[in-house]
Amino acid sequence: MGGELRAAHWGLQRAAGMDLVPSNDFSFYDRVLDTCALVGAVPARYGGGGGQVDLDTYFAMARGAQQRGRDVTAMEMTKWFDTNYHYIVPEFDRDQAFRLASHKPIDEFQEAKALGITTKPVLIGPVTFLTLGKARTARFDRLELLDRLLPVYAEVLSRLVAAGATWVQLDEPCLALDRTEPEREAYRKTYAFLAQRVPQAKLLLATYFAGLDDNLRTVVSLPVHGLHVDLVRAPRQLDPLLEAWPAGTGRVLSLGVVDGRNVWKADLAAALTLLERARDRVGAESIWVAPSCSLLHVPIDLDLEQRLDAELRGWLAFAKQKLAEVATLTRALGAGRGRASAELEDNARALAARRASQRIHNPAVKRRAAAVGERDLRRASPYASRRRKQLALPLYPTTTIGSFPQTAEVRAARRQLTDGKLTPAAYDAFIEEQIRKTLRLQEDIGIDVLVHGEFERNDMVEYFGEQLDGFAFTEHGWVQSYGTRYVKPPIICGDVSRPRPMTVRWSTFAQAQTKKPVKGMLTGPVTILQWSFVRDDQPRSETAKQLALAIRDEVQDLESAGIRVIQIDEPALREGLPLRRADWAAYLDWAVNAFRLATAGVKDETQIHTHMCYSEFNDVIRVIEQMDADAISIENARSRSELLEGFREYKYPNEIGPGVYDIHSPRVPSTAEIVAGLTRMREVLDDRQIWVNPDCGLKTRGWTETLPSLRNMVEAAREMRAATGALVGRAVDPRERAGHT
Ligand code: GLN
Ligand code: ZN
Repeated sequence: MGGELRAAHWGLQRAAGMDLVPSNDFSFYDRVLDTCALVGAVPARYGGGGGQVDLDTYFAMARGAQQRGRDVTAMEMTKWFDTNYHYIVPEFDRDQAFRLASHKPIDEFQEAKALGITTKPVLIGPVTFLTLGKARTARFDRLELLDRLLPVYAEVLSRLVAAGATWVQLDEPCLALDRTEPEREAYRKTYAFLAQRVPQAKLLLATYFAGLDDNLRTVVSLPVHGLHVDLVRAPRQLDPLLEAWPAGTGRVLSLGVVDGRNVWKADLAAALTLLERARDRVGAESIWVAPSCSLLHVPIDLDLEQRLDAELRGWLAFAKQKLAEVATLTRALGAGRGRASAELEDNARALAARRASQRIHNPAVKRRAAAVGERDLRRASPYASRRRKQLALPLYPTTTIGSFPQTAEVRAARRQLTDGKLTPAAYDAFIEEQIRKTLRLQEDIGIDVLVHGEFERNDMVEYFGEQLDGFAFTEHGWVQSYGTRYVKPPIICGDVSRPRPMTVRWSTFAQAQTKKPVKGMLTGPVTILQWSFVRDDQPRSETAKQLALAIRDEVQDLESAGIRVIQIDEPALREGLPLRRADWAAYLDWAVNAFRLATAGVKDETQIHTHMCYSEFNDVIRVIEQMDADAISIENARSRSELLEGFREYKYPNEIGPGVYDIHSPRVPSTAEIVAGLTRMREVLDDRQIWVNPDCGLKTRGWTETLPSLRNMVEAAREMRAATGALVGRAVDPRERAGHT
């Protein structure tokens, strides 16, 4: 199966006219985990040992394992730079040993060669690999491990050369981020070592997602045969780079001019201008034309989209179309613009049509966004006074993050609705039944704040996008999120507004079934922005503000409909952080304001929750206070000690639910381990602050593990209450005061 996919993709790239097709970009889980396997960085609890890393061990590291007497949690997972693609975080010990423990890059090179294709194997570079990992035991400088790691990389390169490889790409995206002088030194040492050990390998050093900036001098001094830079994210790095480029060395400059992170057609004329400038300076033979980064982050083929209207389709390019753009640019650069005049003219026409299109501009939306003022961003009272007016709940209140298992049955019903095999009325009845069942289960288990389960949602962003103006949808635009999980990001193509309520129907239905509070569940503006393909013709901050206003209307409508707890998920807030620290403050300012704009319109009595997951949370720990949610739930189970440390140094004032178990693993947590985790949290948080909830939504889980996990969770909360005392003093339940059911 893997082999078939690889063969198909190599063939596709060859057919599109690519001269040098990559290999080892295929992964069963993610490329960082592949690298752990490659160099034998397998933590002892997975049975590290010697020999090759087998698939069972590989998947145990990725997902945890609870079978045949083995009970081990998964490794930590986090997002790959500012993307929604996740990787497994490598763990290193101070006395970490490395060995060649997988032949994947060599095997796949040979596999392609057998098909007649000499590929360019792609590896994650050693410094980026160490930088992305974590020291497991006592803190130490991970870069100290280079001395032990580099010989393994040299061995991989030697074997690739022996198998017939010439070019090998080493991805070092960290080299485009903020680096200290010792870190730059690590790069110098690494590439000097590899050049000296394996001089036959032509190394292409690949950077992307940001500019080289202050690392430029270091980069051009490295003894590599080629350098790839991202000119979409950082076009301004070109001139200083050309300035510093050592002439006459025959080194290759790979220029990423086609956006690998977004779905819009490239501006071919503008890209050509950059390419020609580079060519005139360093010579045609030294320039390669390329996408800005891996095309993993965009959908595969626009030709598959039958339902997108022709106008919009005319503005877009997916991976396959981007390869064609690269081919056109290569031809125009090599043989002159005249040799590609038809394509260039088509492209210019498409771009002009998009700029002028009526459908992307809505004057009412622009006026409303321009009128937003300071007081729209502030709740009526501070948290301490709001708290007294909000629901009465026991100490250590329990809740979940929103979704319940999206079973095959739920997905089948949605498909039948789309295919017309189920009437809308029958589909609604099905969803109602799921909600009723889920509420009953939560009541039985004894959860305090219930959720309706999100069965009606295909995806937390797509669901909202489908109901908002200014969005477009693909049928097949899947993009990998983690492991075998894919998402289908909507395309924000125009000004955003909410024509009608989006979630009120299901939330009020759910609330009517139970006396317990049911949380309204929305996706926040920054997350919708971050997990969509966004328009590139206005600042992201402007689009975020439009989204925030749409969500604000929904929050207001939920409140009016009697919903007393409303959660606005912002799991992507951290991942939206610019990669260079100098840009953080400006981003956080507009991102936090977008959240506040979405939520601040409610009464004191309405409890606002937010949720974040798989974030390097400590980077934004102070920012959550500014968001001023009454309660936040956060991913925590895979990186417990880190959060603890963060809260040791910083006292968060509002309520917080540090996730008590990992929902990306089918493993059932025991009550004792949940109690132990909560007890550790008590070291840094007050009893009255702590909520008890899983790490994230349960949609990817099955019911068989969900029910016992939640039972253990509720039992753990009861033990905490018994151990720590009575109810928190809160006001009377406002619903009862108002006298409705
Ligand atoms: N409410 C969403 C859910 O439970 C949150 C998902 C997320 O944070 N990624 O599915
Ligand atoms: Zn989450």
